[in-house]
Amino acid sequence: MRPHSETVSDLPEMLEQWEPVIGLEVHVQLATKSKAFSPSEVRFGAPPNSLTDPVVLGLPGSLPVFNRAAVELALRLGIATSSKIRAKSRFARKHYFYPDQPKGYQITQFDEPLCEDGHLDLIIGRAIKRVRLQRIHLEEDAGKNLHVGAVSQVDLNRAGIALVEVVTSPELGSSEEAAEFMRSLHRLVRWLDISEGDMEKGHLRCDANVSVRRRGEDRLGTRTELKNINSFKFVQNAVEHEIARQIRIIETGGRIERETRLWDADAGASSAMRSKEEANDYRYFPDPDLPPLVVDGAMMATILRSLPELPVARFDRYLKQHGLAPDDARTIVSDRALADYFDDAVKSHPGDRGGRAIANWMLSELLGALNAESKSISQSPMAPAQLSELIRLVEDGTISGKIGKDIFEESYQTGESPRAIVERKGVQQISDEAQLWEIVDRVVGANQNQADAYKSGKHGLFGFFVGQVMKETGGRANPVITSDLLHKRLGG
Ligand code: ADP
Ligand code: MG
Repeated sequence: MRPHSETVSDLPEMLEQWEPVIGLEVHVQLATKSKAFSPSEVRFGAPPNSLTDPVVLGLPGSLPVFNRAAVELALRLGIATSSKIRAKSRFARKHYFYPDQPKGYQITQFDEPLCEDGHLDLIIGRAIKRVRLQRIHLEEDAGKNLHVGAVSQVDLNRAGIALVEVVTSPELGSSEEAAEFMRSLHRLVRWLDISEGDMEKGHLRCDANVSVRRRGEDRLGTRTELKNINSFKFVQNAVEHEIARQIRIIETGGRIERETRLWDADAGASSAMRSKEEANDYRYFPDPDLPPLVVDGAMMATILRSLPELPVARFDRYLKQHGLAPDDARTIVSDRALADYFDDAVKSHPGDRGGRAIANWMLSELLGALNAESKSISQSPMAPAQLSELIRLVEDGTISGKIGKDIFEESYQTGESPRAIVERKGVQQISDEAQLWEIVDRVVGANQNQADAYKSGKHGLFGFFVGQVMKETGGRANPVITSDLLHKRLGG
């Protein structure tokens, strides 16, 4: 098996003359309890075909009824991406024959989708790139064909699960941007509880449309479509290989066929699956069993009111208001619970310069401790106010940074407040100059040989003296004052 992360080594050179253009169609599984048009439960890993009903099975006489929860989730996404919401959208039938679709058609939205003309912002470095969305529409998932030796089996547990399909404009410019789009959408749908976003369970799957054109050319090149990519890494690898494949073909006098290709992650290559079908092959028409989907003002208002500050807005605020490094800000907004923790910690910090320190402690100490126990931030035994209290003790010099780490450990383990631990253990930093001078004087006096060596030029011994003072004080000596006094006493 070749490693998935393998990159195309001569691609950077090719890209000097060629511009890749990528448009993604991402399917997102909505977090509803029941299916899109019928009451069957949605559950991962249930025995095959245990989650079906007459609608899912396409039995004659059964009628679909739309799941209101799915509309609300799709609307949340539409509003969060600033899309135009169609007051009256429509379901259509998309016909194709395949064993995973017993009805012989998929219910989707065609020329009257729920959302159009939105956008999703990506964080690229410290900048924000806006990617336009052509549409977001509702549809149902198909079942799954399983091929076991010579036998093929069908599991319809997934059939009829509510999805949204998010379609971007053709304006992603690299495989990295394509992967970043997937990550941003993943972050957003989890942030808004639209989808569980579990990649392992296939909650986000994308088709990547890829073309290349000579730099400076306005017209789009012929595209191919890579089907069914279910991880961030695969998007990046599949798109990167496809870009290189197309450039090689054109440069050697060939032509790109409009076709659908299948990415084989293990082989690190794609192969042609079928030539591209046109919309009229599907014989779309409005589904006569379903009334138009009507979105009223009250529904919109409720959702608008319930939307939290979005991840990219927070990223921007963390940079501007708290001066965080872009990488730190990006990590904090990767997960809403993490960002909420940060905001809570900042709120209980009186100074307005606390953000950076809080980010540092959160990302190194707290996440380190949580990761070691495979815990998430919501399981943190240390509340945001406690972390903030600890940071304040370090900032105002009550304890040293080094002791702060020990106090962190203890507070994390026991849940006891950092201030209480500091008082109980008497580990307050010694910053009193007179008290420190006594200790410095004693230490130098007791190590006369080293002091003489220092004076004759062995300045590397300075650390030895600092160490001795720390030993005397149990690590409590203020390091800045200690160093200052040692210089005075040793005459360095
Ligand atoms: P289809 O009808 O085949 O689904 P659409 O026009 O709906 O085609 O576009 C589907 C996706 O393909 C969109 O994400 C769009 O951005 C992308 N796309 C369209 N043309 C190109 C192209 N020349 N190169 C790359 N992506 C493209
Ligand atoms: Mg399409």
